[in-house]
Amino acid sequence: MKNLIQEIQEGILTENQVNRLLDRNNTVLLKGRNRDIAIGTGFLIKVCTNIGVSDPNELQFELNKLRLLNNVKFAPDIVMDHTIVNLKKPLWETMVDEFSGAVGTLPHYLTYNPQKGIDEVELLEMVSKMAEYGVSFITIHPTANRNLLSIAKRERVLPTTARGGSIVLKDLEINRRKENVFEKNYLAILKILKSHDMAVSIGTTFRPSNVFEAMDMAHLEETKLQAEFVRVAKENGVNVLMEGVGHIRLNDMEKYAGIIKRIDVPFMPLGPMPTDASVGFDHVASAIGASHLGYMGVAKIFHSITREEHTGNVPSVDSIIEGLKSARIAAHTVNISLFPNYATMDKQVALTRAHNKTCVINQGLFADNIGESYNAGCNRCKHECPLMLNL
Ligand code: SF4
Repeated sequence: MKNLIQEIQEGILTENQVNRLLDRNNTVLLKGRNRDIAIGTGFLIKVCTNIGVSDPNELQFELNKLRLLNNVKFAPDIVMDHTIVNLKKPLWETMVDEFSGAVGTLPHYLTYNPQKGIDEVELLEMVSKMAEYGVSFITIHPTANRNLLSIAKRERVLPTTARGGSIVLKDLEINRRKENVFEKNYLAILKILKSHDMAVSIGTTFRPSNVFEAMDMAHLEETKLQAEFVRVAKENGVNVLMEGVGHIRLNDMEKYAGIIKRIDVPFMPLGPMPTDASVGFDHVASAIGASHLGYMGVAKIFHSITREEHTGNVPSVDSIIEGLKSARIAAHTVNISLFPNYATMDKQVALTRAHNKTCVINQGLFADNIGESYNAGCNRCKHECPLMLNL
């Protein structure tokens, strides 16, 4: 093992325990520049943040985000590149060069052409290039097919809101393909990934785009098909993750969790949003949804969603950090519940409050002022401060 693994570093697991967990076929080790990220049952929940360039003029802005994300104490474990324009030096290369943890990409974002669709040779070349450069995993959309599209069109108000899946569907139409470009080239892609010890994430095209369509036929049929791609990746010795919802109410989560548990794969929900009415505050809704699925033992990676998720704005640096903090809090709440010896930070906070007789301290996930002393009480309850009444 070359790089740091958080669970070993923080004394949650020994190296032998980590190795035993990684020998199971429901865990994945994503290689990073300085940190390898262990995902799956038995490991801490991890956090992923997406950035990306949609206009070449945004490059510097996204580079600033990357560097800030890399330097904060609560840095994400994974960053994904959602760039859709070709740049002189691709953003994903800079991510691999600079980001300490794992890097994920979507090779079709950069090979899709609105007139020509996706060229298969270019797609495989892009996957090879990413693998050789050191990308940790790619997300693909092999379930974007005509059958699921016709079910979704028939039964939903919007058939799909998945960007990656939609361009694969468009490519089916432009190139009059019988088979999805990823389905056709799946074994060739797995071969490239295996030779570079790289993982694949099975993306979702028909995840529900509102809570009323969760668990509908398109959703459930796609989940079955995703499970099939997971099975083939495992059979071919390739580390595999799976993406999922989307939007789903809390009361539907238990049934959904049962289905995902049977697939037995490290699962990365996109959210999920347990309400559609949180526009402008979707980072909060997503943290609530992710913590439910995480505590049920299903979600293993939490995506940091920003308040801009449904506002149409490009997330600012502040909203990227706010989204990351929200996902970190959600992951932490689940981690201290599932791993009691991970709660040392919470114990420190509780003891500092008690020792200094004040609620007001500057410690925790986003600050680290251990040893600092504080004045007793504060202005909120003034002379009725229960900590000062010497009870
Ligand atoms: S005054 Fe109230 S809020 Fe402030 S430290 Fe005392 S109990 Fe806590």
